[in-house]
Amino acid sequence: MKAAAKQAGRDIRDIQLIAVSKTQNVDKILAAIDAGQRIFAENRVQESLVKWPALKSTHPNISLHLIGPLQTNKIKQALSLFDVIETVDRPKLAEALAKEMKASQPFPECYIQVNIGEEPQKSGILPTESDDFITYCKNELKLPITGLMCIPPADIDPAPYFTRLATQAKKHRLHNISMGMSGDFEAAIAQGATHIRVGQAVFGERG
Ligand SMILES: *Cc1c(COP(=O)(O)O)cnc(C)c1O
Repeated sequence: MKAAAKQAGRDIRDIQLIAVSKTQNVDKILAAIDAGQRIFAENRVQESLVKWPALKSTHPNISLHLIGPLQTNKIKQALSLFDVIETVDRPKLAEALAKEMKASQPFPECYIQVNIGEEPQKSGILPTESDDFITYCKNELKLPITGLMCIPPADIDPAPYFTRLATQAKKHRLHNISMGMSGDFEAAIAQGATHIRVGQAVFGERG
């Protein structure tokens, strides 16, 4: 991260490492916490409910991000655990979240997931619809949208996709740009990521 930040002429303090702990056991997570890591992410609500309530109660300064799809029937559980929901990706979910906002305090920060490569198998709002969706979430639903998130297509140069996401975030004055994983975080840092989501390069291969 340091080398990539330096190469890009960026301040390392503007880039946060999110340790993606999906499928990793609690011992490995505790080792990361002991090493000073404070931001983690999971992709499944159910798995997170098993692992994180105890960890969070003993380590209250941890920030937990949801980076996998959120079903509307799991919203209440997600709100009880996550500090940031990175996967707001469709009006139905955004509306259901907005409905819960008053009942749930504190309410997590939200990022909008953009299907930046327009891939049918991937979640995320399409780039052609994202301007309207971001505006709807912010202005009409009053959701606390603070960033954008994407997963670019595999096996091709991710840089143009990262650039598109960063440009869109700037346009909407959204500070947080979540992009880059174990295989491409350097490119994401070069294109302006404020949060990189790294699993296997932190914890080793997933079992
Ligand atoms: C698993 C996952 C990551 C981390 O992937 P690694 O290749 O292990 O770094 C990042 N983002 C999302 C959305 C993921 O599901």
